[in-house]
Amino acid sequence: MSLKLCQGPDCHTYNTQDRLKGTKGNKTYQTRRRSNLYYGNHNFCDQRCLYDWVNKYIERGLNHFGRTTKVKHLTEQNAWRKNFNYHSDRPYDYYAVNTITKEQRSLTESQYDDSTYTLNER
Ligand SMILES: [Zn+2]
Repeated sequence: MSLKLCQGPDCHTYNTQDRLKGTKGNKTYQTRRRSNLYYGNHNFCDQRCLYDWVNKYIERGLNHFGRTTKVKHLTEQNAWRKNFNYHSDRPYDYYAVNTITKEQRSLTESQYDDSTYTLNER
């Protein structure tokens, strides 16, 4: 199994015992290696390393991929969200609720479970 290297630019500078490797007289603090990393889409060993990367590269990333320059709007036509009411003694009530108008419409369980089913306009 190949190990993934933490992408945190300063990972090797944090003084933890698990980063300290090597033989006596040749020890170094090293970038963490793991079979799986859990932060930042599996690229970082912890939140500190994730935010080190963000702080270092966020301006370049926003300039490269494009900044939000206009207010975005979630309209009534796209404000439907699925929800359900829990009941211990009978089937759940599944429904869609419009988060702007507060209108509710009943859904079947299969409509609720179908990730492609929506009342939102596309
Ligand atoms: Zn790290």
